Amino acid sequence: MNATQTSGNWQSLEATRDEGGPVAVQLDPQLMDILACPAEDHGPLRAEADADVLVCTVCGRRYPVEDGIPVLLLDRAIP
Ligand SMILES: [Zn+2]
Repeated sequence: MNATQTSGNWQSLEATRDEGGPVAVQLDPQLMDILACPAEDHGPLRAEADADVLVCTVCGRRYPVEDGIPVLLLDRAIP
């Protein structure tokens, strides 16, 4: 009966702040790091400030972000 070693790691997750107001695309920086343009250039993507889109910094295609989920499909790209 030595159960004093329980780690409280699950508590280290910071609560998401929910302070109203419209917010532009807010994606996890780590997520942005692994996202890449689905086109041949595989360029890094940058979140637009005023619109819910991700922009490829290489080819300039724009990809919509729906419900916080980037839609990285060439079919949905906005040239
Ligand atoms: Zn691209």
